Parts: sequence; C-alpha cells; structure tokens
Amino acid sequence: GEMTVGDLAKLLHKDASEIIKKLMFLGVMATINQEIDLDTIQLITQEYNIEIELKLPVEEDPFEIVEKADEADKMQDRPPVVTIMGHVDHGKTTLLDAIRKSNVTEGEAGGITQHIGAYQVEVNQKKITFLDTPGHEAFTTMRARGSKVTDITILVVAADDGVMPQTIEAINHAKAANVPIIVAVNKIDKPDANPDRIKQELTEYELVPEEWGGDTIFVNISAKNRMNLEELLEMILLVAEVQEYKANPDKEARATVLEAELDKGKGPVARILVQEGTLRVGDPFVAGVCFGRVRAMVSDKGRRLKDAGPSTPVEITGLTEVPQAGDRLIGFEDERKAREISDKRAINLRQSELNASSRVTLDDLYKHIKEGEMKDLYVIIKADVQGSAEALKGSLEKIDVEGVRVKIIHTGVGAITESDIILASASNAIIIGFNVRPEPAAKTTAEQEKVDIRLHRIIYNVIEEIEQAMKGMLDPEF
Ligand code: GDP
Repeated sequence: GEMTVGDLAKLLHKDASEIIKKLMFLGVMATINQEIDLDTIQLITQEYNIEIELKLPVEEDPFEIVEKADEADKMQDRPPVVTIMGHVDHGKTTLLDAIRKSNVTEGEAGGITQHIGAYQVEVNQKKITFLDTPGHEAFTTMRARGSKVTDITILVVAADDGVMPQTIEAINHAKAANVPIIVAVNKIDKPDANPDRIKQELTEYELVPEEWGGDTIFVNISAKNRMNLEELLEMILLVAEVQEYKANPDKEARATVLEAELDKGKGPVARILVQEGTLRVGDPFVAGVCFGRVRAMVSDKGRRLKDAGPSTPVEITGLTEVPQAGDRLIGFEDERKAREISDKRAINLRQSELNASSRVTLDDLYKHIKEGEMKDLYVIIKADVQGSAEALKGSLEKIDVEGVRVKIIHTGVGAITESDIILASASNAIIIGFNVRPEPAAKTTAEQEKVDIRLHRIIYNVIEEIEQAMKGMLDPEF
C-alpha cells in the first residue's frame, strides 16, 4: 500500500512537521495525510542518510513527458531562429540593432520595443526570429541544458581585423550543434577592409564560399551604415527555405526559457521562445520545475498577445517561481497535471543531482565503450601555444581503439575558461589542458557540471592516458 507523510514520519521517528518542511524544500507541498510515492520517500530518507530497502519493482520514470511524433500533415512552416556570433567588437550588437531598426513597420513605429531576449522581423512577407543576446555563451548555455533553439548562425567577422580566437570558438560551437553558418563580413565601409582575406582565412575552417567551390554563404555588410542588410536577411530566408523549418502549431506549447527574472511589480517573468504548438493566455504550463498559468503575454513590439505560435518570442507572467534560462516550457490543458508534473520534476531534479552524473569521465570511459554507448570520445584541447594544440590534436585523432575514435571539437590557446566547460558539458566532452590551468570560475563550473579536466605537460602522457582509458586500463588513482 501507499505511505502517507505521517506514516513516514513515524517510521523515521521524526516530527511530521519536519518532514513536511523538508518536502517543501524539495518543492513538494504536502499535508500529513498525503500519500507520497517511492521517489519522494527515498529523497527524504536520503536527507537523513538512511538507506531503505527497495521492495517494489523499479518502474519506468512516469514523469518524463513522452513526445509523440507530429503527423506530417499538421506540420507548417515556421520562421527560422537566428543567433549572431563572432569575435568581440566585430559588430554583433550593431548588427542586431540595425536589423531590428530597419524593420519597424509603419504601424509599429509608435510602439515601444521591448527587450525580451529575441525579436522578429519581416522580410518579403516572411518572418525571421533573432535571439538578441549576441555571442556563443548564451547559445551554448542553452545547449548545455539540452535545448536547441538556434536554426542558423550568423558569424560576424570584421573585414579590417580577420579571424580571431572567438571567431574560431563560434565556428566550433555552431559545428558542434550542427547549425548552418552564414558569414557576414562586416565593416566593409572601412578603408582597410579586406573581405577576400577573410574568405581566405575561413577556408581553413571549412567555410568555403560558393565562388570557390564551397557551399558557405558570405555576405559583405556594414552594420553601421546598414549596407547589404536586406541581402543578408534574404540569405537567411534562402537557407530556411532549403532547410524547411517546420512545426505543428496545433498542440500544447513547447518553448524554451531564454531569460527569466523576478520583477518587483509583475512577479516572476520569463522571456521564452515558443518552438512548437501554441501558447495561449490562461494556459497552465510547466517551465523546468516551476508551475505557471499564463497571465499575460507581451511581444517584442510591446504588444499584448492572446496566443503565440512556433518561433515567436514572448514575455510571459503568471509563474509561481523564476525558472532558469534553457528550461523547457510545456503547456498543458489540465492544470492539475501541470502542477503534478512540476512537483515531480522538482523531486527528480534533486534526485538526479544526488545521483552520480552521467557525464563521461576518463575513469568510466571504458564502461561506456564496452556497453556500446560510445563511438566517439569528444575532446577539447586548451594549450599554451597553438603549435602544441595542433600537435596534440594530430596525435589524438590517430588513436583508434576497437573502432572508438577521438573527436576534437575545439582547440584553443590560453587558460581553460567557463565557456570551454559549458561547451564540454553541452557536448559531453572532456577537456585536456596542456601547460595551462582552468580559471577559478571555470574550476567551479567544471565541478558543478562534472566535466572531466585533465592537465598535462607532456604530449606522450596525454596520448597514453587516453589510450589506457579507452582500453579500460586507467589507473584508478586518477
Ligand atoms: P560586438 O562586440 O561584436 O557586439 O561589437 P559592436 O557592435 O559593439 O561594435 C564594435 C565597434 O565597431 C563599435 O564601435 C561599432 O560602432 C563598430 N562597428 C560595428 N559595425 C561597424 C561597421 O559596419 N563599420 C564600422 N566602420 N564600424 C562598425
């Protein structure tokens, strides 16, 4: 039979109020007579460091929301979602502002544009959604949390500067996420602009323009003088047409939280991007572990909306708590169901934090390989000089242990940064530091995200360690 909060309290020789308090801390509102499930019981016993014996068969997780595939005839075109990335000062923010301003139509001119994490523009009667936090941090943070929001990346490279470290980082982030790249060669108004040099430099990263036999779209622009922006937007639509981005608008919403905060007047506010289905005012929903019911929705043009379909960014109120950026938001018809799921999620989240993480580390690599879960070991290399990074990359890529290969997803020069950790976490990669160390913030994040960092000074040792790990021969003292 089921167990109530009161029963559990008795069993543990604790006060029921204490158990109720603990449950509240875990995100579960319960009364003394409420029945609690096994997961919850386990969480409480773990809080008290008490082992309980499992007498019930382990069921499948009933709180996972199983997505049914959409029927093909329900799928409709949706606007592409674009992120702008590139090196600092190459003009990302200027470009975002220029696109936004160039596209304010008559009727909206009076409206107050709102920062809601993304905005939409209309070109040739077609919409494009831009995420308006430039840079790869936001992009990768989303991905680390398991949500894919970007369809297309605009890589901004300043024509008077060239390919820089963050340009390369952006390329690697986009590639790791399998997102097509359009290159915007910016600042071509400058007298020393040399767009051909940029094209030349980017061929090294497999971004080859069409006129040179490749398939990467390059557009020369000046974000500051608003030159060629129309062309850039048309190229986005062209890619979208080829890729055929579609979603079913005719179901409960699926969205991703872009940003969230506590507003003094409005309470918890989330800026979200609807990706599938339609979110309506009054809809109950779960965002991460938070429950909510849409009280109001505001567009990027400051308009109140009644509903929002796929690829629409909106700001919503009506949450009970502040969710996290990257959280999935799921709409429900039934409020009780939504509440139940958010409660269970809160418990599951806590539990998964307690449980061992599923991140790959060198120590358990062999286990993953043996169980056939892994075909590639993803690695990020940070080194003190480019030469070492390249040498290491070359050697590691030659390793082949029973068909399992090393895939280098990013190399860079300098200390291991938080951005490296987030990329590793998003891609389930390990990080090798060669004559470099992690920055303090990176160290903390690595611990939280359980990312395996290996520091070395001799190339041979790196190769040996990786080979040994792949063969399951790693010395457990590591
Ligand atoms: P971000 O760091 O990539 O967001 O770069 P910003 O958008 O802040 O731009 C950095 C600097 O470059 C600013 O001073 C801009 O005014 C300037 N800038 C951006 N685009 C252009 C351009 O097309 N031409 C010129 N001449 N300057 C530009």
